[in-house]
Amino acid sequence: MSKYIQELMSPQLMGALYLFIAFIVALYLLAIVYVFIDARRRGAQAWWAWGLVSIIPFVGLIAYIALRPGSYQSDREEQELDMALREHQLAQFGSCPNCGTTIEKDFIVCPVCNTQVRNVCPSCHKPLDAHWKVCPYCRTHIQ
Ligand SMILES: [Zn+2]
Ligand SMILES: [Zn+2]
Repeated sequence: MSKYIQELMSPQLMGALYLFIAFIVALYLLAIVYVFIDARRRGAQAWWAWGLVSIIPFVGLIAYIALRPGSYQSDREEQELDMALREHQLAQFGSCPNCGTTIEKDFIVCPVCNTQVRNVCPSCHKPLDAHWKVCPYCRTHIQ
């Protein structure tokens, strides 16, 4: 029996086998490192727990890929920033009804097409929205 095995296990075959095992082990270690890095990057609070799960050969990696948190933390932060910026812009600007140019809070006419976008208080000359009846700055009534 051992003679058979010795004949079967030529040095070339042994070399190939060792290479194959080394490849599998390297793949396994890479998977663990990948899970650690990916879970941290995704902002998972229990990233170290995910790392422990990934130590279970192959099953851990599959479980992680199936259950990992959905989006990257940096993406989420960017989205929140973007939404805050848009809200800020909505509060600050309107747009010209004629050409659509963004109008800043205190613009009276559109800087592009010269359309009047706001009224001016006859008393204190501050810009007023078209539907305002009273100037909020000096209490002058607008006709
Ligand atoms: Zn305009
Ligand atoms: Zn006024």
